[in-house]
Amino acid sequence: MRIGDVGEFPLIERLAWIAGRGRADVVVGIGDDAAAVDLGGEDLVLLTVDSQVEGSHFVRGCIEPRVLGRRVLAVNTSDIAAMGGRPTHALVSLVLPTELELEWVEELYRGLAEEADRFGVAVVGGNVARCEDGIVLDLTLVGRVRREHLLTRAGAKPGDMALVTGSLGEAAAGLYLSSHPELEIPERDALLARHLAPTPRVEEGQVIGAAGLATAMIDLSDGLGSDIGHVCDRSGVGVRIHAAKLPVSPAVERVAEQIGKKAWELALFGGEDFELLFTASPHAAGVLAERVSAGTGTPVSVVGEVLPAPAGRRLVLPEGIEVPLEPRGFTHF
Ligand SMILES: [Mg+2]
Repeated sequence: MRIGDVGEFPLIERLAWIAGRGRADVVVGIGDDAAAVDLGGEDLVLLTVDSQVEGSHFVRGCIEPRVLGRRVLAVNTSDIAAMGGRPTHALVSLVLPTELELEWVEELYRGLAEEADRFGVAVVGGNVARCEDGIVLDLTLVGRVRREHLLTRAGAKPGDMALVTGSLGEAAAGLYLSSHPELEIPERDALLARHLAPTPRVEEGQVIGAAGLATAMIDLSDGLGSDIGHVCDRSGVGVRIHAAKLPVSPAVERVAEQIGKKAWELALFGGEDFELLFTASPHAAGVLAERVSAGTGTPVSVVGEVLPAPAGRRLVLPEGIEVPLEPRGFTHF
């Protein structure tokens, strides 16, 4: 069997079965946004790794190396944020073709260093290897979280609300605009920026974790419609998402209108927004929304409610009809 026939998530499950040993110091192992390990002390250590592959995640001529450098750190930082933590140290593995301009790599590192400074990350090492077929950037990020502030994908309970930070669909709108220069949208630059170099919700994640009121959290990398499924899987619950409650900006409305899609479709199935999705009891949801917006200025929206597992994953369309929620987000393989 080829990995293309297995699919991304079943592949990860098979690999976890082979190598994922439970051990006393492993608090969270394979299958969450980041691993959490107990090395002693008040804080848990968070570990995550992610790669940006030329042709799969980026096209060399379509993104400035400096922006790409910011992006490679940002997407990892988002996974640390999803655990309620803050990033501290990074290791970078570069796989590069020999014809690559030195200036390109230096610019990449300038972007990486800018983003690292912004989030208090020290780049402490890495590796360089050669491959003539294209660029692969692989970043390992270490972080920490107070053990009582840790949030995982497990823990959502029936009756909880499902909430998201910020607004959804902007990265998908930006991706579309990047290949359609003819579309005239006043917010073009902002949407492109959102697509190319997302802003991880680190402060927001820490506020949510520190409140001790949320039951589960994940960052939205593949798209809400798909990522909410990971929370359902790990928590053993179902969910009902309301299309009409998804937070979309007027800019996303405009793009959706021009390309003949619904804004809620971009919000639900467009990936790479890197917002946080979390769950909390109805009372706690209100408190958390207030704390996040007061502490960070980022709005929080209730987008649905957690159901018992047998109810499955449901989507209420804007016209009020309830349909199954198909996991149509992005997957590799
Ligand atoms: Mg994630």
